[in-house]
Amino acid sequence: MIDADDLVALVQNYNPKTDCDLIRRAYAYGQEMHEGQLRHSGEPYFTHPVAVAAILTEQQLDDATIVTALLHDTIEDTRSTYSEVESRFGTEIAELVDGVTKLTNLQLSSTETKQAENFRKLFMAMSKDLRVILVKLSDRLHNMRTIRSMKVEKQGQKARETMEIFAPLAGRMGMQWMREELEDLAFRVLNPEARNSIIRRFITLQRETGDVIQKITSDIETELDKAGIEASVLGRAKKPYSIWRKMEEKEIGFSRLSDIYGFRIIVNTEADCYAALGAVHQRWRAVPGRFKDYISQPKSNGYRSLHTTVSGRDGKRVEVQIRTQEMHDVAEAGVAHIGPIATVFAQRTPLPSIRPSGFPTLPSASIPKKTTTSFSKPSSLRCMPTRSSVSRPKVML
Ligand code: MN
Repeated sequence: MIDADDLVALVQNYNPKTDCDLIRRAYAYGQEMHEGQLRHSGEPYFTHPVAVAAILTEQQLDDATIVTALLHDTIEDTRSTYSEVESRFGTEIAELVDGVTKLTNLQLSSTETKQAENFRKLFMAMSKDLRVILVKLSDRLHNMRTIRSMKVEKQGQKARETMEIFAPLAGRMGMQWMREELEDLAFRVLNPEARNSIIRRFITLQRETGDVIQKITSDIETELDKAGIEASVLGRAKKPYSIWRKMEEKEIGFSRLSDIYGFRIIVNTEADCYAALGAVHQRWRAVPGRFKDYISQPKSNGYRSLHTTVSGRDGKRVEVQIRTQEMHDVAEAGVAHIGPIATVFAQRTPLPSIRPSGFPTLPSASIPKKTTTSFSKPSSLRCMPTRSSVSRPKVML
């Protein structure tokens, strides 16, 4: 288990001004409160809040959020109370912990998409402070990572909730990596046959065609080099769940699925994004209807990038995303990173910055409706889109 010193060091890595004493006190208090409690795996219960705190340090969150993670199950599961947390750690942290407790108590039973939709709205309405949702998402992520030690019936229920509520929520918050990991962990429980089958097909494909990703990456690098654009190119196979979803949507089998690889071009400037797009389109044929300019028209969560699909080697389609490093950081970390956009919402009740290094305030979900910004609408953070729920496989693999 990560000890208090390790955790403090993780925070100090990105926040030299961290209140070490506060974190140590929260660590000691959480450990004392959960003393004697065990997880399903048989480990001490406190390993869980500590792991959640560690996940949040990866997102470089502020001290209050890290402390909230350490204490997030104390009011609910131990003899600790709101007023005790408040007297020891202050009102801000007590309210954050209370917010997480309330979300936990929603008793999510998400059998229908409609219901999941309502829960997502409720979630946002209840979470006046987005840090509450970040803690709850990280809590779910750790529970999903360790789901194997749970009873089988419980696993299915947790996985469905994750697929229907938490993964879309992470996506909505602009945290793509978390959405993908949550989806994959849930997919593994809900449909292991489909997932294994897709993974096996990848292995076969790689045996037949060699490392396609490497080949296409160097093709793209050559073109950009010729055009004099400084860039780094990253290729990857799409995640099993997103492939499976595509197969379902299009009702086709794996062999007919064309875009299973995604490539990302990271350049220095916005102008280079368009230059890189030109270079790619000049060399490969663009697939009609697949070009999207999220730089001039950013998504409501702040996401910016150019998207295109081209016919690459052997007529195989290749999806390409082009962005700057800054756009990439926003795309990966979402609200944990988009301080500048978030300030616009936060005019009524100024909240402390969630990022320690002078990042502005996070939006509060109870912000007046009329606030506008050139980046995004505040309401978009509260109204979750309907996304299809997990259903039975319709296609042969
Ligand atoms: Mn928990």
